[in-house]
Amino acid sequence: MAKYRLGKRSLRELEGVHADLVAVTKRAIELTPQDFSVHDGLRTLAEQQRLVERGASKTLSSRHLSGHAVDLVPYINGKLRWEWEPLYLVADAMRLAAQELSIPIRWGGAWDQTLTECVDCPEDLATDYAARRRQAGCRAFLDGPHFELPVALYPA
Ligand SMILES: [Zn+2]
Repeated sequence: MAKYRLGKRSLRELEGVHADLVAVTKRAIELTPQDFSVHDGLRTLAEQQRLVERGASKTLSSRHLSGHAVDLVPYINGKLRWEWEPLYLVADAMRLAAQELSIPIRWGGAWDQTLTECVDCPEDLATDYAARRRQAGCRAFLDGPHFELPVALYPA
């Protein structure tokens, strides 16, 4: 039996999101040892503009605008928690679910790789990604709750 299920608010956030990503998210909540909420699914351009202004997002061509991305935030003792340890558990569950369904996904903790093709634990993937960015002289923008369908296979 699955331990957790998506609440009403999470299901509402999934409205308008691509069916493949919805399927992965729904499977992940059955597999995860860490409860999570769908904090953000489909976004309007106005919402995206506000996030960029606040520095919470880096781009106006976000995959959230076309329904190809979701933000999954750990839910602990009745609160949403942006913390890495539980985020890694959610990323693991998303990878497992996506592999089971043969749907490739990309994770905001290691943007330059396809999560479903990686074998390292999410913590190592994020640490290595940040190190690669630093080596290239760039700042690493890690977005642990963010999962998306690869643009090459799912054009906007
Ligand atoms: Zn996101």
